[in-house]
Amino acid sequence: MVPARDIAVLGATGSIGGSALDVIARHPGRLRVALLAAGRNVDALLALCRQHRPRHAVIADEAGFPALRDGLREAGLDTRAHTGEALDALVAGDACDTVVAAIVGAAGLPSTLAAARAGKRLLLANKESLVLAGELLMAAAREGGATIVPIDSEHNAIFQCLPDAHARAGLRRLVLTASGGPFRGRSRASLADVTPAQAIAHPKWSMGPKISVDSATLMNKGLEVIEAHHLFAVPGDRIDVLVHPQSLVHSLVEFVDGSTLAQLGLPDMRTALAVGLAWPERIVSGVAGLDLLAEGGRLEFEPPDLDAFPCLQLAFDALAAGGTAPAVLNAANEVAVSAFLQGELGFLSIPRLIEDTMSALPAAPAGTLEALSDADAGARRHASAAIAGFA
Ligand code: NAD
Ligand code: MG
Repeated sequence: MVPARDIAVLGATGSIGGSALDVIARHPGRLRVALLAAGRNVDALLALCRQHRPRHAVIADEAGFPALRDGLREAGLDTRAHTGEALDALVAGDACDTVVAAIVGAAGLPSTLAAARAGKRLLLANKESLVLAGELLMAAAREGGATIVPIDSEHNAIFQCLPDAHARAGLRRLVLTASGGPFRGRSRASLADVTPAQAIAHPKWSMGPKISVDSATLMNKGLEVIEAHHLFAVPGDRIDVLVHPQSLVHSLVEFVDGSTLAQLGLPDMRTALAVGLAWPERIVSGVAGLDLLAEGGRLEFEPPDLDAFPCLQLAFDALAAGGTAPAVLNAANEVAVSAFLQGELGFLSIPRLIEDTMSALPAAPAGTLEALSDADAGARRHASAAIAGFA
């Protein structure tokens, strides 16, 4: 039986947060919600507190604190309200032994690092923290004795196929699969006028708006290449990407003896979350088994189109450049996606703005968190100022 766990869900009101809480609620008594944290949606956080009765609730947006505190009191809950300032200490403290890191963007880095340093079981969905500070985060996890279970479906698949050091020693290459997003098969020219609503209508996965746009540009796969490099210590030239429109094969691992292992399943993040919560055991997640015939009886694969979706190549370039380059790529992408979602930047200008920012801030050594934070801030400043020129 899975051991009892006290779980902090960071990004609780989001897509991954909701899936995590769904799995947790299927195992009452063993899986307990200790802490819920959200960005600014107090009403949604309060509703989750009424349902899951955590010991702590954190709202990052200070303006939301009085409403959270008063709402918890009115609901008669013992849950303590906090602002975002308390988050890192709570994550590192005794209240939880397991942390679901599902805040979106670089905003998730401090709490993810705190969980790693404090030796927690870290269910890592916040891929941007690995892209921004992969070496530091992996070192913090090693030194703190944290167990990282990747929650990105591709990396969770690879994790399942590479259970121990023996398997890793015989690894030849990783193949990340990609759905291709909503614009698969379209030429670059035909993408000039696509709208945010079209970009976030993902054909296979239901996700938050930022990662949905990243999937449409293929930047999501680029971030995942960098993520895989850090998680599994594999250089970029041994990581390949294959478009697989059915999204049933979640990634593949090739060994030196010619074997290839893959993990398959329906596209539902609750499987990866259940793996993270119970590993090495298996628990019910609410996801049905895979019926390949009912899913159409076909598994198709094709190469990614780097002309229509240049973001993937930009991410490979940033990984090869190393140092601060992935942090700059990530920050410029966050600015570009946010501007696209607000109607201030065209879809095709997303890679242009990122490329422009990467050329303006060439890779520098990135040994410290401070150097990476400076690169992140500098890239945000440059990209924000450059938007008008690309709109
Ligand atoms: P989402 O937009 O649905 O949710 C984001 C969550 O983060 C919300 O709860 C929001 O309140 C919270 N948040 C934002 N800023 C915050 C801050 N400063 N402090 C505290 N909380 C904050 O996003 P999502 O789709 O759930 O994605 C979350 C992360 O998981 C992303 O890094 C994404 O790349 C990764 N991921 C998601 C999926 C998926 O299927 N949704 C799959 C793989 C990886
Ligand atoms: Mg993924």
